[in-house]
Amino acid sequence: MSQQNVEIVRRLYEAWRRDGYGAVPELMDPEIEFVNPAYAVEPGTRHGYDGFAAAARSLGSVFSPYQVLDVEFFDAGDQVAVRARVATQSVATEVPVEAERGYVFDFRDGRVVRFAWFSDPIEALRAVGLADVEHPDPKIVCDRCGCASEASTDAQAEGVGWLVDRSRDPHGHICPGCRAAAAPAGRLPDSLR
Ligand SMILES: [Zn+2]
Repeated sequence: MSQQNVEIVRRLYEAWRRDGYGAVPELMDPEIEFVNPAYAVEPGTRHGYDGFAAAARSLGSVFSPYQVLDVEFFDAGDQVAVRARVATQSVATEVPVEAERGYVFDFRDGRVVRFAWFSDPIEALRAVGLADVEHPDPKIVCDRCGCASEASTDAQAEGVGWLVDRSRDPHGHICPGCRAAAAPAGRLPDSLR
């Protein structure tokens, strides 16, 4: 079940990357909570799709929309923790910021029912009981099909036939199966060589 939850979070990030940060009703429970940490400029919890959208807009008024550079998912049963490297800039100062953030997604009946963000990923891991995992192995995941490699580094992934190219895509991981599917009959386009 929980791997399904990771897949839903992955789809949520895809939707945000495509459509911008906000409520995604098909993946979120109507009673979703948006939980700001106590140290947020606007702390407290917002409720429902409208509350989520308002909280997302409010963050956007302080920082220009995040560009997610890299993201890791941590399966914790009914919860999924996320560590993301993001690029953004302060609207006030126009100073670019590259930072790590942590997020926790709670699930009910296959939909996100609670979303909490933290300025430090360790807070998110702690919140789901994974704090003891100081340096959890990042799983390498295929950008096309979502399958995970046993490899935990780019070099290991390349060793087992994965395409790794972060210069084109911040994730930049394509599994051997998807490489083959993208170019049957042995004719790899240059972009997949
Ligand atoms: Zn794949």
